Amino acid sequence: MFLCDIHSHSKISHDSKAELFDTAQAAIDAGLQEFCVTDHCDLLGLEGEPVTGFDWPAARAQFRAVKAELGDRLTLRLGLELGSAVSDPDEARAVLAQGGDELDFVLGSIHNWIGMEGNLDFYFSDFHDNLALARRAVESTLDHTWTLAAKLPDCYDSLAHIIYPLRYIHRDGLDLTLADYEERVRAIFTEVAKTDHAMEVNVCRGKDIAPWPPLLRWFRECGGRLVTVGSDAHRPEDVAKGIPQALDMVQAAGFDGVATFAGRKPILHKF
Ligand SMILES: [Zn+2]
Ligand SMILES: [Zn+2]
Repeated sequence: MFLCDIHSHSKISHDSKAELFDTAQAAIDAGLQEFCVTDHCDLLGLEGEPVTGFDWPAARAQFRAVKAELGDRLTLRLGLELGSAVSDPDEARAVLAQGGDELDFVLGSIHNWIGMEGNLDFYFSDFHDNLALARRAVESTLDHTWTLAAKLPDCYDSLAHIIYPLRYIHRDGLDLTLADYEERVRAIFTEVAKTDHAMEVNVCRGKDIAPWPPLLRWFRECGGRLVTVGSDAHRPEDVAKGIPQALDMVQAAGFDGVATFAGRKPILHKF
């Protein structure tokens, strides 16, 4: 089995203090063959403020230095987790263009309310006893994810953690899944499959396993072919957490292999 983890963060992200060398070393220690750093570029900040640009000089310098130091011990890729591209497509495209040829992989994320609730990251919403708010969060995420998939396919390679708002809905004690939204999720997956993009199984450092089997089944039934896996580690000790389970789920769902990306082109590693 090809072991890879292509969703991780370093100190270039606002919410991580990790040195890329340390996360890459953790990847080697976990037996990974391929690892990708995907630092945040959220066009809406945590508190909903518009953000422009990404610190490519710092990201590139860090990537080049660590890659040189690792040599052939690990295939290290340079990625980006681009959040809320739908809120400012021109800026999203400018950031990606500045990434240049060295950019291997783009995760497309929705972390925020967009156009409501102050554009806050869902992390800041209080879903306790508020199923109506939770439902609005899921519906907003699915609406904007559909727009990303259908209108801005050049702004992502793999659809990151489609279950993102559920992290905080479950944190606040509500029991909601995407089962009630099957039709809308399938519409998104059909767009993703049609353009031969990928969906991500994001296991959130080993915490999110249960939601994925039905989503993988729907994606495959919608014609999906490419699946990426990520731990979403923000610290070296979380690298690869949940990745073996993620790969098992992808295989059990009937996919031919797991995908990674180089130069924004998919590579399928067969099971
Ligand atoms: Zn994310
Ligand atoms: Zn992330």
